[in-house]
Amino acid sequence: MKVTEHIRQAKGKPLVSFEILPPLKGKNIEALYGQLDGLMTCNPSFINVTYHRAEQIFKAQPDGSFRQVETRKRPGTVGICAAIQNRYKVDAIPHLVCGGFSREETENALIDLHYLGIRNVLALRGDASANQRFFVPSPHGHQYAIELVQQVAALNRGKYLEEETIDEGRTDFCIGVAGYPEKHFEAVNTDSDILFLKQKIDAGAEYIITQMFFDNRKFSDFCKRCRAAGIHVPIIPGLKPLTRKKQLHSIPGIFHVDIPKELAAAIEKCKTDAECEAVGVDWLIQQCKELLQEQAPVLHFYTLGKPKLVQQVVEAVL
Ligand SMILES: Cc1cc2nc3c(=O)[nH]c(=O)nc-3n(C[C@H](O)[C@H](O)[C@H](O)COP(=O)(O)OP(=O)(O)OC[C@H]3O[C@@H](n4cnc5c(N)ncnc54)[C@H](O)[C@@H]3O)c2cc1C
Repeated sequence: MKVTEHIRQAKGKPLVSFEILPPLKGKNIEALYGQLDGLMTCNPSFINVTYHRAEQIFKAQPDGSFRQVETRKRPGTVGICAAIQNRYKVDAIPHLVCGGFSREETENALIDLHYLGIRNVLALRGDASANQRFFVPSPHGHQYAIELVQQVAALNRGKYLEEETIDEGRTDFCIGVAGYPEKHFEAVNTDSDILFLKQKIDAGAEYIITQMFFDNRKFSDFCKRCRAAGIHVPIIPGLKPLTRKKQLHSIPGIFHVDIPKELAAAIEKCKTDAECEAVGVDWLIQQCKELLQEQAPVLHFYTLGKPKLVQQVVEAVL
């Protein structure tokens, strides 16, 4: 089922969803099943699977020269989505990124997903590759997520890249996009960020999943700005428990989000990881309770290898 159908059918009852990462290259899918088996007790409506672009690295050669090679740390997004749908009968949502893909490769991936019975995609630009300062599209690839949304929407109308419209070849993807309550770090200002978000919706995206945030006021202000800008699709809050002291620095650095001073102070006082986890879980439970009062349609959790803690939060709030 499409995400929008899940939300419609729930008629205001809160839903839960998770984001997981594919295993590192060479690792087994069984460990992932181990985490998902536990999370299934929370009855998720859908599970998002992240995509990790290929990186170019330079490998030293015996003659002292360097050879550029492409390496992918976490392949497997499409396969894992198919495995999840088969094993758990839960909708899986592959993340699609612009980075590292030409339009033709994207079209082929969409055709594979369509054959696999996957009806949802999250369309993203992706970050710059590790050795580039700014995002650089692949040759004949997309510069911004909106172009990816447009490509998927065109395929939904039966419009393939090099062909005339093929009516019987229409796909039927429900397209989601990313939103940033605290502004995307490259955006010139909040207004321009919302304007570009609105353009993604106008191009065919049907819901928004947000970057994580730890202060609900940021989410509710973001929703107000979206509504004022004419964005009326569901906005799904992205949520994560803080679990380690070092995340007070790593999370703002990686995800460009603030940690409220009360939460930071409580984590600073912790003497063990277990104490940090307890503080992070309590904070997230409170966040979820408030978000449910504000009618958030879905609570979307970034599980990031902490399925038990997320399970604890869901059990406490639903
Ligand atoms: C829910 C969620 C899931 C994610 N999953 C993944 C994942 O699986 N893999 C991964 O690599 N990354 C993932 N990311 C990270 C995401 O790819 C990065 O944040 C990336 O830097 C931006 O992606 P976007 O889709 O928001 O880009 P865009 O919507 O293209 O926006 C990128 C920037 O460009 C600006 N912009 C947009 N359109 C225009 C325009 N026409 N002209 C000028 N400026 C414009 C925006 O304001 C923004 O600053 C995820 C993020 C979120 C919130």
